[in-house]
Amino acid sequence: MILGAIEAGGTKFVCAVGDEQGNIHERAVFPTTVPEETMAHVIDFFRPHNVEAIGIGSFGPVDLRPGSPTYGYITSTPKQVWRNFDFVGAMKRHFPVPIGFDTDVNAAALGEQRWGAARGLDSCLYITVGTGIGVGAIVEGRLLHGLLHPEMGHILVRRHPDDAFAGVCPYHGDCLEGMASGPAIERRWGKKGVELADRDEVWELEAFYLAQAVANYILVLSPEKVIVGGGVMKQTHVLPLVRRYVQELLNGYVEHEMILRRIDEYIVLPGLGDNAGIAGALALAAAARG
Ligand code: ADP
Ligand code: ZN
Repeated sequence: MILGAIEAGGTKFVCAVGDEQGNIHERAVFPTTVPEETMAHVIDFFRPHNVEAIGIGSFGPVDLRPGSPTYGYITSTPKQVWRNFDFVGAMKRHFPVPIGFDTDVNAAALGEQRWGAARGLDSCLYITVGTGIGVGAIVEGRLLHGLLHPEMGHILVRRHPDDAFAGVCPYHGDCLEGMASGPAIERRWGKKGVELADRDEVWELEAFYLAQAVANYILVLSPEKVIVGGGVMKQTHVLPLVRRYVQELLNGYVEHEMILRRIDEYIVLPGLGDNAGIAGALALAAAARG
């Protein structure tokens, strides 16, 4: 089966042609500019290929409600030019094939469950800590959607007593994304994360916020694996701190060896590295084709 996949991010679009085993035959990356320009690249990329279905994992919020008049749209995104963009419609006009559509993080969770760190499990979370913070979830074998789709990057966190930073979320100020995303780090400390690598206090504080979120997700969803990716996690000293703080916050209450003794195998980096999202989009395409 020849399948198309799109991982649509706020800074770049990754397009790929591959198969239902997650193999990627050809890929290309385009900057996210304005819809007309970016989509022209996407359409040119797929045109020579006879794809049987296309899977899209998109930045959001997106409308995933089947039957909704705006199904397949990017909706209330802070990226003004992409607001109310009919993503699935734009693809369907050029490629009359089944199209799978979900959030970028749900696609990544699916990729990791099929072929990555959560292989063989019925549940997992995929958290990205990058320009924004987003979380995809598989619960009892299925991607979690609900009313719209979860927005776990915007949960409220307890403020560190020494942290007076107002936060960068345009909607909530000091929600998790407002306090712990890449742009939050840059605004709080006046330098990009990559330039702050040797400043322990930066990463202690980062882990303080991320651990609260992960502890809350564990309490609410009880995932069998927690996968954390995104640019900020390239700071490899953060994840061990997150694991330790999660154990402290849960304080023995969730009595499972994965948390009490094997947390290094429980809260992990993506098994597919930077390919989780695009591989998951191939899985979405395969599912759409049926
Ligand atoms: P996006 O979220 O746009 O898809 P990324 O996941 O790469 O892309 O996240 C970009 C954010 O991650 C930026 O805010 C950037 O400063 C931060 N970032 C990227 N690389 C690093 C790094 N090595 N160390 C710390 N922060 C990083
Ligand atoms: Zn927010």
